[in-house]
Amino acid sequence: MNSQFVVAKFGGTSVADFDAMQRCAQIIHDDNNVRLVAVSASAGVTNHLVALTQQGHSDAERAHIVEQIIQIQDNILAKLSLDADLAQGFDLTINELQTLAKHSALSKQQCDEMLSFGERLSSYLFTQVLRDLGIAAQRFDVRQVLKTDSHFGKATPDIKASRLAAEAHLVPLLNDYVVVTQGFIGADQFGQTTTLGRGGSDYSAALLAEAIDASSVHIWTDVVGIFSTDPRLCAKATPIARLSFDEAAEMATFGAKVLHPATILPASRKGISVFVGSSREPHAGGTWIEKEKRQEAGIRAVTQRKNQILLTLKSPEMLLASGFLARIFTILSNYNISVDLVTTSEISVALTLDNAPNASRPELDQACLEELSQFCHVTVENNLTLVALIGSEIQLKCEQSNLMAVLADFNIRLICHGASKHNLCFLVEQSESDRIVQAIHQRLLEAA
Ligand code: ADP
Ligand code: ASP
Ligand code: MG
Repeated sequence: MNSQFVVAKFGGTSVADFDAMQRCAQIIHDDNNVRLVAVSASAGVTNHLVALTQQGHSDAERAHIVEQIIQIQDNILAKLSLDADLAQGFDLTINELQTLAKHSALSKQQCDEMLSFGERLSSYLFTQVLRDLGIAAQRFDVRQVLKTDSHFGKATPDIKASRLAAEAHLVPLLNDYVVVTQGFIGADQFGQTTTLGRGGSDYSAALLAEAIDASSVHIWTDVVGIFSTDPRLCAKATPIARLSFDEAAEMATFGAKVLHPATILPASRKGISVFVGSSREPHAGGTWIEKEKRQEAGIRAVTQRKNQILLTLKSPEMLLASGFLARIFTILSNYNISVDLVTTSEISVALTLDNAPNASRPELDQACLEELSQFCHVTVENNLTLVALIGSEIQLKCEQSNLMAVLADFNIRLICHGASKHNLCFLVEQSESDRIVQAIHQRLLEAA
């Protein structure tokens, strides 16, 4: 890393309305190192856009959803007067949204086009808010630099192509302007719009930081950092001042919604530090995620991820046979499905997949199930939650408590431990998971 540049990312609630945008503008105003800003769609907009990609809505219902999206923009616009360059692009974007929303059945590519409107619109408005505060701000279409493959709904970034494009088109602007761009979206090699998956703006910010050689990424959200568990679930959750890249990646992967799971990848590749703080309370501190040599042993957080699917694949042929796992994972990979937990026995494999509501695409589709069913017996269970204990050097019998004794009180469907010393994960019934997380937090993280 050879620059002092900071990439700032503002999430949906941070750009939800005019007042929220103004608070974010002030943060940028107060830190001269912030040269690149990635914004999310204003809160609620992406959920509306997901609804527009789903079939089964009448023309009137779709028109109503579009009105709700426009209303959110209009509430902000009421306090702003857009400069001509921004007004022209903004109006064109609204027209494009209205035109696409008239179609009831969208292709995968059109779905990503639809999902992109939230970030495209909020970035026009936020640029004006910065200008009104006297900041030389320029809006930039991230699709010029964030290059991805064509897996619509959850595209994989092309790091090298993105870096080259950023050096050519983006870096030259950063000395003169605070550049405002979009999180979550990118473009494939044909220039078609892609998205990185729900919550992907955090990942975009880290990818952009990598592409421009920034020193750090500041993720501004609605909580003052990463907590020992979701502060909405446990009033006694405490913010964690420092996390290693490994711990933060595990937390994000296993459910701390505050950070998109892939965010840490670019950061740890390049040693870029990541700060998470609240745009409502920018001086209240937050969490710094950095490369750390040694972490104190023990459990630091408990996370949960609801809406998990448990897929059990059984085949007597697996007994003493080779290649069964390879075959399964090849099929899952062909469908771009990511697996979280895996356990195996002599003749079966159990694995978990995400089935989040409002996802930009279903994780498991029928065609994949049919392909798997051709050579093994497939069982699908829903309504499960993945609970994860995160920390360093986690052992089933750790010093502060006997973990086994704590877990013995719960009905555990599957347990995974050993592949990483940073986590211990298990599956429970979704209806019980809040209570379980609260109990674990109380016994393991509030004691002493
Ligand atoms: P943004 O819109 O800024 O991206 P998100 O809603 O995606 O924000 O993430 C912030 C939310 O993550 C918080 O409001 C909080 O409820 C939730 N969350 C879940 N687990 C944690 C955790 N361990 N620490 C902090 N926040 C958490
Ligand atoms: N707007 C997108 C979403 O709601 C991306 C993001 O906010 O990170 O998922
Ligand atoms: Mg988020």
